[in-house]
Amino acid sequence: MSHKNNQTIRCTVNQCRYHEQTENYCSLDGITVGTHETNPTEDKCTDCLSFERGK
Ligand code: SF4
Repeated sequence: MSHKNNQTIRCTVNQCRYHEQTENYCSLDGITVGTHETNPTEDKCTDCLSFERGK
């Protein structure tokens, strides 16, 4: 699978299969962000729902 470097989504989660490994970018055209909290108050309350475990 060829990864393209989408320079509009920065990401440091290099354990994700969609992470562009040489730089801190996501290779997807778009992602979905959500929350696991009922009342999110900080950045750590949010999650990338497009995350998939790397190979
Ligand atoms: S899908 Fe989400 S976690 Fe995975 S590289 Fe893209 S932005 Fe990062």
